Order: sequence, then C-alpha cells, then structure tokens
Amino acid sequence: MTAPLLSVRELTVSFDTPDGTVHAVNGVSFDLQPGQTLAVVGESGSGKSVMVSSILRLNSSTNAHTGGSVVLDGRDILTMSEAEVRAVRGSDVAMVFQDPLSALNPYFTVGDQIAEAYLVHHPDVSKDAARERALEMLRRVGIPNPEGRIDEFPHQFSGGMRQRIVIAIALVNSPRILIADEPTTALDVTVQAQILDLMASLQQETGMAIILITHDLGVVAEMGREVLVMYGGRIVEQAPVEGLFEVPTNPYSHGLLDAVRSLDHSGRGSLASIPGTPPSMLAMPSGCAFHPRCPHAASVGGRCSSEVPVLREVPGSTSRTACHLPDETLVRLGRKVTA
Ligand code: SF4
Repeated sequence: MTAPLLSVRELTVSFDTPDGTVHAVNGVSFDLQPGQTLAVVGESGSGKSVMVSSILRLNSSTNAHTGGSVVLDGRDILTMSEAEVRAVRGSDVAMVFQDPLSALNPYFTVGDQIAEAYLVHHPDVSKDAARERALEMLRRVGIPNPEGRIDEFPHQFSGGMRQRIVIAIALVNSPRILIADEPTTALDVTVQAQILDLMASLQQETGMAIILITHDLGVVAEMGREVLVMYGGRIVEQAPVEGLFEVPTNPYSHGLLDAVRSLDHSGRGSLASIPGTPPSMLAMPSGCAFHPRCPHAASVGGRCSSEVPVLREVPGSTSRTACHLPDETLVRLGRKVTA
C-alpha cells in the first residue's frame, strides 16, 4: 500500500469559552491517500468543519487547543512554525469554503486575486506570467470568455461562477490536497452538480486528493470513495461509499440514511430529520454521544451512557464502526435500513 499523503492521528480540538470548554474534535484518526476523495459527513455541530480547519491550523486563536498530529510528507503540521504552515497553505493543501462571496475580495478583479494567490508562492514570477496563469485557471474552471472577464469584479459573476473562481484560486498552485467545506451548499441544485463535476474532472486532470465536507449524502454518493461519518466530534463509522450505502453499520448512519431516504429517492436531502438534536459541544453526553437519540441504546444496558465505543472492524460489512451493539446486530440493522 502506498504511504499516505496525509496522516491524522488522535486529533483533538477544544476551545475555551466564557461558558466553559467546547470539545469540538475528540480523537480523530484517518489517512488520506494520493488522489483519494474522502467525504466527511455529519450534521452541523458534528465537528467536521473544525476538524478540517485544524489540518491547516486555521483554528489557532489563543483560546483554541489542538492535540494529536497531522503529518504531511513526514512532517507534523501542528508543530511547524507559522512561516512553514503559511508555505503549506495554498501550495500543498488548499481550501474552498461554502460561501464564495465571502472568500473573494470585492475590491479586486478576479484576475488580480488569482494572480496574487500564485505570486505568494512564486515570488520570482513576473506579473505578466501570473496574469497568464490566472487566465489559464479561468479557462480550466470553465469561465466562458475568460479574456473578456478576467478584469471583472466578483459581484459581476453568478454564485456558481464565483465558486468556480474560488476553485481557480485554490488550485492555482497545483495543491496535492483540496479541502472543500460544503462547497455547493450555497448554490442551487443544477449549479451544485456542475461544481461537483468540475471538481471531479480537475481531480482526474491533476491527481489531487480531496477532503469533502458535506451534510448531504447525495454529494457523498456522487463524489466520495471513502466516507467518515462524524458525530459529537468523533468518527463513528468509516467505510467505502458503496459499503456505507449497502450496509451502514452505525445506528447514527442508519438514521442519516433513513432521514434522506424518507425525503428523496435520489439520496439528496437534509439530515435534519433524525429525532432529537445534535449534542451541545459544551455538554457532550457521557459514553456514546449519540445515546440520548439512539433507538438501540436501551438494549445495551448502561454501557452506552458510560463507555465511549471505539472504532472496530465489523465482520459482514466493509465498515469500521464505533458502537457497543454486537457485530451481527449492526449488520442486520444495516441491511434492514437499505432493504
Ligand atoms: Fe446507540 Fe449505544 Fe451504539 Fe451509541 S453505542 S450508537 S448509543 S447502541
């Protein structure tokens, strides 16, 4: 097996707030292989966005505490100097956020913003060459008439076109990893599909790996190869996409699939219909954080509320799951959900 491009081990992130300590990420571990697409799915408040932001140390305010390791090319990003992390950001690892408008500066033309992102990591390149590179990127992300639009401002583009420009900025330095945090949530459904297609074709072209954060299982089905399901700041299930859709083994994943299937047969939809509400990070339930909402917690006795389940292989499935239920029960319940 190839050495992972990125190796995250026992990542923890907490924040001091006036109301107490928020434990946002609680011991997350995974590997990302070159060219892989890893989807991270969960409701809002599951810790998925904080988890990926901390890969690039974007949570490094004085009230944030990060532990564990994030190893890229044998070097731990969490212990790098600020200058070293700046060199990694945008060049080795780039990020695309949900709202393209807030990611772009309204006072600069899109061409200048793409060229500037290139010049930061290529200070010896001339301004003309950087503009040429900006033009090439606008072409690659499918902006029609790039020569005529390179000197326009963000507000002159539609939401979908702005997200293409944000992707152009993210990819201008040919990163090996693109982190996309809900990149299509703010867009209408047709444009969402276009942006996902664009990301997939750019991935084919460049061989970059993608970490895709989403609350939408339709997006997972379309883009993902491997899925991490997060709840309460932990990974509760890890599986290949087909495996998750065939035999989801964690009761929380059952809930996600049930919720989506009840909304739309395409698998696209909100996760909001799981009964109960996601836990507050300030008052995380003891044991398995899902136990107040889990329909099976009572059958395991008091263990669910007292002991945190660890991720383990589940024979009869392709998943690793964190749950106290016996393996055969997890597989039986999973098959029932997808029957
Ligand atoms: Fe439900 Fe208990 Fe499994 Fe958590 S550990 S998902 S509460 S059965």
